[in-house]
Amino acid sequence: MITDVWYWVVIGAGMLLSFGASALVKSTFAKYSQFTTRSGMTGADVARRILADNGIQDVRVERVPGHLSDHYDPTNKVLRLSEAVYDQRNMAAFGVAAHEVGHAIQHATGYAPLKFRSAWVPLANIGSNLGIWVVFLSLVMGAARGAGLPFIIGLVGLGLFACATVFTLITLPVEFDASKRAIVALENGGYTTTEEVEGARKVLNAAAMTYVAAAAASIMQLLYWASLLLGNRDD
Ligand SMILES: [Zn+2]
Repeated sequence: MITDVWYWVVIGAGMLLSFGASALVKSTFAKYSQFTTRSGMTGADVARRILADNGIQDVRVERVPGHLSDHYDPTNKVLRLSEAVYDQRNMAAFGVAAHEVGHAIQHATGYAPLKFRSAWVPLANIGSNLGIWVVFLSLVMGAARGAGLPFIIGLVGLGLFACATVFTLITLPVEFDASKRAIVALENGGYTTTEEVEGARKVLNAAAMTYVAAAAASIMQLLYWASLLLGNRDD
C-alpha cells in the first residue's frame, strides 16, 4: 500500500486541497479586513444585534484568542469571536460574526442537519481515528483475496471510515446554511451597505471551500481504501 503510487496521489491531492483552501480563506479574510464598514459597529456589536433580531437572549458573545478561531459552542451557548472579528469594524469581521450567529440560530430553531451532525460526532471521531487502521490490518491479514474473516474486518474498517466521510458531507449543508443566514441577517438588519454585504459574502464563500476540500479529501481516501479491499488488488 505504502509503495502504491495511488496512495501518495490521494494523500497529496488531499493535502493540496486543504492547503489551497486554507490559503484562500486567509488571503480573502485579509483583503476584506481592509474595508472598514460604515456603521461604526464591531463584529461583536453586529453579532449581539443579530442575536437580538432573532429573539435569542441566552447566548453570550465572548472574545477568544487565535486567528480564525471563531465558533459557536452549543453546549454552553457561547459565541466566541477571535480578536480580528470581535473588536474590528470591517467586512470580513461582519461576515464571520454573522456566520457564527447563523449557527446559534440553527441551534435555537432546532435545524435538523445541525442536530444530525452533533449526534454523528462520536461515530465520526471513532471512524477517523480507527477506520483506516482496521482496513490496513485486514489487508495485511489478506483481506484483498475477498473472503474470510480478514475481509469482514476490512468491511468493518471501511464502514468506520465511511462514518468520518459522512460527517464531512453533513457539515456542508450546516455551513452553507449558516452563511446564507448571515447574509440575510446583514442585509435585513440594515447593518451593511450592498457593497459591504458582497465583501462579507466573498469571505464566507472562501471559508466554505475549506469544508468542501475536507469532504473531497475524505471521499478520495474512502474510495482508495475501498478499491484496495474490494478490487482484488493484492498489493
Ligand atoms: Zn460555521
